[in-house]
Amino acid sequence: MRPLLITIVGTRPNFIKVTQFNRVFEEAGFRHELIHTGQHYDLNMAGVFFRQFDLEPDHRLELKHTSPTGQMADILLGLETLFLEHKPAMVLVPGDVNSTLAAALTANKCGIPIGHIESGLRSEDKGMPEEHNRILTDHISELLFVTEKSGLTNLERENIPMDRVHLVGNTMIDTLVGFEERIDASSVLNDHALTPSTYILMTMHRPATVDDRDAMVKLTALIREMTSVGRIIFPIHPRTRKQLQTFGLLDEWEGMDALTLTEPMGYFAFQKLIKHAMVVVTDSGGIQEETTFRQVPCLTLRPNTERPSTLDPGSNTLVPFDIPIISDYLQQIRKGQYKKGAVPPLWDGRASERIASVLRNRLVG
Ligand code: UDP
Repeated sequence: MRPLLITIVGTRPNFIKVTQFNRVFEEAGFRHELIHTGQHYDLNMAGVFFRQFDLEPDHRLELKHTSPTGQMADILLGLETLFLEHKPAMVLVPGDVNSTLAAALTANKCGIPIGHIESGLRSEDKGMPEEHNRILTDHISELLFVTEKSGLTNLERENIPMDRVHLVGNTMIDTLVGFEERIDASSVLNDHALTPSTYILMTMHRPATVDDRDAMVKLTALIREMTSVGRIIFPIHPRTRKQLQTFGLLDEWEGMDALTLTEPMGYFAFQKLIKHAMVVVTDSGGIQEETTFRQVPCLTLRPNTERPSTLDPGSNTLVPFDIPIISDYLQQIRKGQYKKGAVPPLWDGRASERIASVLRNRLVG
């Protein structure tokens, strides 16, 4: 019987990190099952990705609670039943969300080894829930798959035995490379009457930004200023929309002519928007990496990043919430004077294959 690998996904960025796993694990001699925890559950944040990637989860959990702790408790109990029944040789957990940590804890309690995909990233910002999820998951993982060199240094500094650690590249980039034709075929530019290299693509969803009224007021002023440089297209995360409503700012946003607000987009449309943007302004983790791969300018409105290779050699810059500073960058970008950046090592579309090869040596050998 071929050994069973189980991968746990729960949120949009998770789905995007595992699209090649079925294929590469089958080829490497494994059976592979996907479990969706249900942390992101609606069509825009989950369903569209399963459909576009042709990725039907083998099992789905029903989360009864809505608080982060309640959801994690639901995930622990739901996964325990499945793990005990299916007895995987290893559980794979991508990323840094609550589903990642809950799945890792369950596997640990069930005595099943854990492989952490996108291990070793550190923002050094303990105010970010994701930072705790990353550290805790790494420290109970058997195999740590690292996307960029900083991950090696971070894990070594935390005394993780380095024979568990493997620099394999970035499985998010595998998805981009694997679906390039579908991305190019998206009609999103025509749909929104956008001219390549002239528009600004924007996303914001981190609690540090969108849960704070003052920050959202500042963001509103910033957006107004940015519309003088180019049209903005802004797919709104559900959390951000909710907070705009709470703070009474949604009408003002909807009233700005040069700002196009949309629902969260499917993968192909969103990737096409990144590929042809003049600049992307964001607080997302994954988008810093995708813009680096595309060598598209990215301004990240955060004081830190857990992905330093997007700053150097990448095309990303961390910017403060300061309108004159951001305007300066936008002018540089518009005039073509901004850095082009380079793609970090091993971001070549083959990270999933490298993971499969490590797993094969470890579990099939
Ligand atoms: N994304 C998408 N549609 C959108 C916004 C983002 O497909 O409307 C993709 C994006 O390209 C990236 C992933 O979702 O692959 C990032 O998710 P998010 O920013 O929510 O999470 P983070 O990376 O910050 O954890």
